[in-house]
Amino acid sequence: MGLATSKRSHALIDPALSHRLRAGLPLEVGSVWDELETAWGRPIVVDLIAEKDRRPDGARAGLRTEAEPVMIVLDVDQTRPASVLHELLHFRRYYIDRVPRMVGAARGPMTPAKQEAFRRIGLLENELEHLVVIPQQDAMGHADLSFWEDGLKKYVWTRVHNRNEIHWRYPIALLKARTLGLTAVELEALGWIVMYGFEAEAEAFCTEALGLLNDKVGLVQLVLGRAPVERSLVRLQRYDPNVGDFVLTDDVF
Ligand SMILES: [Zn+2]
Repeated sequence: MGLATSKRSHALIDPALSHRLRAGLPLEVGSVWDELETAWGRPIVVDLIAEKDRRPDGARAGLRTEAEPVMIVLDVDQTRPASVLHELLHFRRYYIDRVPRMVGAARGPMTPAKQEAFRRIGLLENELEHLVVIPQQDAMGHADLSFWEDGLKKYVWTRVHNRNEIHWRYPIALLKARTLGLTAVELEALGWIVMYGFEAEAEAFCTEALGLLNDKVGLVQLVLGRAPVERSLVRLQRYDPNVGDFVLTDDVF
């Protein structure tokens, strides 16, 4: 999710892409797809990732979270069901369950520093969604946990020296590891936390966050207390079916 990619209008997208992707899905992933189409009231639009956005180490699928969502894939015949399910679950949370999402505040001129802050807000938003989406995938037997574990291991093993970064990085890694049941990463993160002497604080954060997984506003409030993101630049949006687009919520940080 969260791919910056070229857009093209829905009228130019071949509906056969969606049919082909749907046709290749196993039963349980196909039923999530069908359920979503019924709830959404229209077909799920699928497009190919644009040539210029394709990179060897890049994402194999994504969801463009615009007014009209578009699932994008590298190849409709070779996208793994786990990747399709992942994007469907993002879709369900934002558009059907109408879970709020963090975005950068649009006010004022864009600067390089602000652009970097917006990028961090986008990444953090994706991380918070993954705390719910990946366990849902796992419950259906399509999580590809080793992929997420590899990324998390690199994140935990990267030495950091900045105090603020230490007090953010290891508690969030601990939270992610516990959510996904990744014991090796959990132990590694705990090792650093004990070494830096803030075990009680990190455990309290983790316990509170786990209790807020179904309360996105509460989770965002909690996480913004630690994350290296400037609160004044964060806004929340929620999809509004009457408007047909995301609208800002009244939440203030
Ligand atoms: Zn994702």
